[in-house]
Amino acid sequence: MDHSRIRPTRAEIDLAALRANLAAVRALAPKADVLAVVKANAYGHGAVQVARALETTDVRILGVALVEEGLELRSAGVTRPILVLGGAYEGGYDVMVQYDLWPTVFRPEHITGYAAAARRAGRRQVMAHLKVDTGMGRIGVLPDEMEGFLAFAAKYPEVKLDGLLSHFANADLADADLTSRQIARFKEALAVMRRHGIDPSFRHLSNSAGVLDRPEVRDGLELNLVRPGIMLYGLTPASWLSSRAPLRPVLSWRTAITHLKTVPRGTPISYGSTWTAPRESVIATLPVGYADGYARSFSNRADVLVRGRRAKIAGRVCMDMMMVDVTDVPGVSMGDEVILIGAQGNERITADELAALSGTIHYEVLCAVAARVPRVVSDVATI
Ligand SMILES: *Cc1c(COP(=O)(O)O)cnc(C)c1O
Repeated sequence: MDHSRIRPTRAEIDLAALRANLAAVRALAPKADVLAVVKANAYGHGAVQVARALETTDVRILGVALVEEGLELRSAGVTRPILVLGGAYEGGYDVMVQYDLWPTVFRPEHITGYAAAARRAGRRQVMAHLKVDTGMGRIGVLPDEMEGFLAFAAKYPEVKLDGLLSHFANADLADADLTSRQIARFKEALAVMRRHGIDPSFRHLSNSAGVLDRPEVRDGLELNLVRPGIMLYGLTPASWLSSRAPLRPVLSWRTAITHLKTVPRGTPISYGSTWTAPRESVIATLPVGYADGYARSFSNRADVLVRGRRAKIAGRVCMDMMMVDVTDVPGVSMGDEVILIGAQGNERITADELAALSGTIHYEVLCAVAARVPRVVSDVATI
């Protein structure tokens, strides 16, 4: 018997929606290949489940942030090429060679460390993608340092620089000046690489915002790979982009009522008594809390859906539980399904809505869904 799903709290992953979102990427970038970003447990959706589903498609490469994330996928039997997008490789070069995880390189020690690991493993050549920092200011070789870096890398022929990439800082802002400059700098960096006799197979700059807003970075020619993340999960990086593609949220976060009671007016609920029943009230307890990634800052603010109606959190979200005022939900019963993120009846709670309540972005709300919440894969649209 499976004892991992006794508690009714779960994140349901709609693979049909994932495939539809991939089709939306394809429709916008028909000539480009897709690197699907599955870092951070696939934005909270379950990296192994999502990667396995994407392996049934023509997604060319999977992108992770950490070597550790790449190893998790390899242990689960994922064989598609994996690019590690971060830069924390020290101590990880041998496993990258062994498990065929391609690093994103931008420091001399990345080249020397990776080349040494290749030699130790008796490998003639291993793959890497070179990152140029065109304006994000995070990681990458600065444009002025490209020449020097390529001259250095040429001394290590074991490392094949088979890709060139950069990352947008502002592509989710309308008409961002920096985005255009980043594209120009990227093309210059590509020209430098070609002058050094390297014609990388993969040339990529476009996150979801780029795919949605910038046709020139998804032409499939000069820039022949796109790197969507959030879009695959059915959300746009910013709301002004939402009309650009028909996306469907992939994750719905569900639980069920495990305790239900009627309390008299004046009854305090949860730690700190920050909520007191303003009338005789029906209070539902849910087995989910901030240890599951449902932020404590949603206390007294967020809604959930019960029987197709909105109901508000009553009092503070606890570590493992929280309470909801369901007084206005006719027929509410023990065991009723409760939606934290997702649709029920004609109502929907989005990750955006929750993000706005705690001053963050939907990316963070999704990534926060904790490992102890089981990911349950479904192919059925859940409406
Ligand atoms: C996370 C990430 C992406 C995906 O960004 P989205 O906005 O989710 O599409 C692409 N490229 C790199 C390097 C990233 O770190």
